[in-house]
Amino acid sequence: MDSLRQTLIDRKAELEVELGRLTAPPTTGAAVSFGKRVGDGTTEAVERLSTTATARSITRSIEDIDRALIKIDDGTYGKCDACGNDIGVARLDALPAASRCVECAARG
Ligand SMILES: [Zn+2]
Repeated sequence: MDSLRQTLIDRKAELEVELGRLTAPPTTGAAVSFGKRVGDGTTEAVERLSTTATARSITRSIEDIDRALIKIDDGTYGKCDACGNDIGVARLDALPAASRCVECAARG
């Protein structure tokens, strides 16, 4: 499990860097330009929204990885959090941080 743990930790570090880059304050004077010209402000607001959505999905991935690391520690890695069945090698291969089986994940 050690290489798996390392894979997850590496992945989490990458995501944290990406998240930090996304949520860093803009380097150009975004606050100053707001409200001066409607077109600019709208574009900026839209960009901000999509950044927020991306940041949220990265945050969720980091939480998934944290959960997977806990599951490795308590020996439940590979078992579905919701129904207790095996998550399946193929799914874990594609999504090492998956904490639920396909069926339960699809249910939300
Ligand atoms: Zn399940």
